[in-house]
Amino acid sequence: MGTFSRSGLERLKARRRAVILAHSYQPPEIQDIADLVGDSLELSRAAASLDCDAVVLCGVRFMAETAAVLAPGKAVLNPAPGAGCPLADSMDASSLRRLQEEHPGDATVVYVNSSLEAKAASWACCTSANACAVVSAAPTREVVFGPDRNLGAFVARSTGRTLWVFDGSCPPHDGADIADMERMRRAWPDARLLVHPETPPAAWDLADAVLGTGAMIAYVKSSGARRFLIGTEAGMVHRLSVLFPGREFSAVGRIGCPNMKKASPEAVFSCLEDMEPRVRIDPSLAEAARAAIGRMTAIG
Ligand code: SF4
Repeated sequence: MGTFSRSGLERLKARRRAVILAHSYQPPEIQDIADLVGDSLELSRAAASLDCDAVVLCGVRFMAETAAVLAPGKAVLNPAPGAGCPLADSMDASSLRRLQEEHPGDATVVYVNSSLEAKAASWACCTSANACAVVSAAPTREVVFGPDRNLGAFVARSTGRTLWVFDGSCPPHDGADIADMERMRRAWPDARLLVHPETPPAAWDLADAVLGTGAMIAYVKSSGARRFLIGTEAGMVHRLSVLFPGREFSAVGRIGCPNMKKASPEAVFSCLEDMEPRVRIDPSLAEAARAAIGRMTAIG
């Protein structure tokens, strides 16, 4: 593995014409070296649109795969190839097919946190940022949705659509410690509590707003409040603290994703030195998934 230094990384990035994209749940030391930190939708759009030859995608595997489908002419490098997502892995193509067969004719929308095979079998995919907009744009009134049951319930409630939802969940968010949220609400009575729609409905009932990470940033920006309790993966607190240095943030619910912590600055450096590990997708699978992923980036 190469020896990491900030100046060495900048030289290597320039030589490779590379950008570093990091999800908001990444560790602070990764967020701090990234060219762009964002949610899944922002990272996908950036991978496709930025003028560069290589993209280092710091997140989990489905994010790197999505970027590779959207940016076929660029080298997409994954500094944490062992970082999977239990939510994405919970719904394989055959279990999605079974749900589709129970509801023939209904359009399928899958969360971007899913396999490429599931995306290829769907009308569109979505992120938590645009799930309601994508489902509202679906060509059928009733929609097959997966794999996150909490996000599915939230979208159904928000849009009034009937959703046939796969029974999957994100273990860190679904296991949110509700008692910790209640305790922190009492400790910081003036704070706004923002929770992610992957948390269970008991968390939504406590919260001031149920929002994806991008919408949390917009909420804080427009809010007059000084203190915020953040009910999503704890890495988001670093992102918000950098963006809003005058405000105070505390993670609540003890939501930590070990897969999001597998990248390191040294691994990013090494990726750019070796141009490996590079994400390689079977071209026919990439082609099959491209329509669903393209609707995700086009809507909302
Ligand atoms: S936070 Fe949840 S959905 Fe996101 S990568 Fe981790 S396990 Fe998957």
